[in-house]
Amino acid sequence: NEEADYFLTEQEEVRSCLKFRDRFSHKGTYGHALIAGGSFGKIGAVILSARAALLTGCGLLTLHVPGCGYVPLQTAVPEAMVQTDKGEKYVTGIEIDWKADAIGIGIGLGRENATASALGAFLKKHKTPLVLDADSLNILSENTEMLSLMPEGTILTPHPGELARLIGAWNDDFEKLEKAKAFADQYGCVLVIKGAYTLIIHKGKGYINPTGNPGMATAGSGDVLAGIITSLLAQKYDPLAATRLGVYLHGLAGDIGAHKLGEESLTASGILEHISAAFA
Ligand code: AMP
Ligand code: MG
Repeated sequence: NEEADYFLTEQEEVRSCLKFRDRFSHKGTYGHALIAGGSFGKIGAVILSARAALLTGCGLLTLHVPGCGYVPLQTAVPEAMVQTDKGEKYVTGIEIDWKADAIGIGIGLGRENATASALGAFLKKHKTPLVLDADSLNILSENTEMLSLMPEGTILTPHPGELARLIGAWNDDFEKLEKAKAFADQYGCVLVIKGAYTLIIHKGKGYINPTGNPGMATAGSGDVLAGIITSLLAQKYDPLAATRLGVYLHGLAGDIGAHKLGEESLTASGILEHISAAFA
């Protein structure tokens, strides 16, 4: 129903929008994703996000991280290329001299002043399809003049705290929805309101996700989601499709994982382990 404002994402629809891999394809067919993030003590977040991106099918993956991330990432994620920042403990400049098909920024990033300036400079220069998560959202909340630099269709994946910083506090769910819709309209973005029944807002419509469980309320869960969506975006799914599919698969991987491990023992790594089963 085109008139409706809210849609439930159902399995049949997800299945029908999946792109199948062509026998005569090569890794260039599936896009080169860049994930920029990490800071001293939060390199694990980039490991989770990078693994999620690779498990979701992008052809190539490069990670931009501070110097302290080089050894752990080359060890934990041998499939990824690692480009190091001039900063040893945090990101001070996101420079790329190659063409990325999608970029995810913010995982484990931290909010140093130099990192905030790096994000501002990056947004001024690049119009590549973009996913903003975690601290990149917090930096935008503290530097609202950067919001208008986001390319059309940028995907934002805040958890409730990040959302409140971004759109301002709300008194009830109706006000939250109104504010979220107004924000998504103003900046032409796809806004993902994460939690139970994650709601994706785009162009005045809402898409409700049925998968996922409270076992996913665990450290690193969102980093996995950001990696999944960045990977789908690199594979040329449009921003809304990449988001709906990514949120659905992430929740389904969590459901399969929780079924095997129990909700308490589900970790972000446990979600990763079941991404392939979610695709299947
Ligand atoms: P983050 O807080 O950034 O790590 O993101 C948490 C992730 O786990 C998001 O994808 C949420 O949708 C998901 N999540 C958290 N709590 C729940 C819950 N109670 N039910 C379903 N999914 C959840
Ligand atoms: Mg998060």
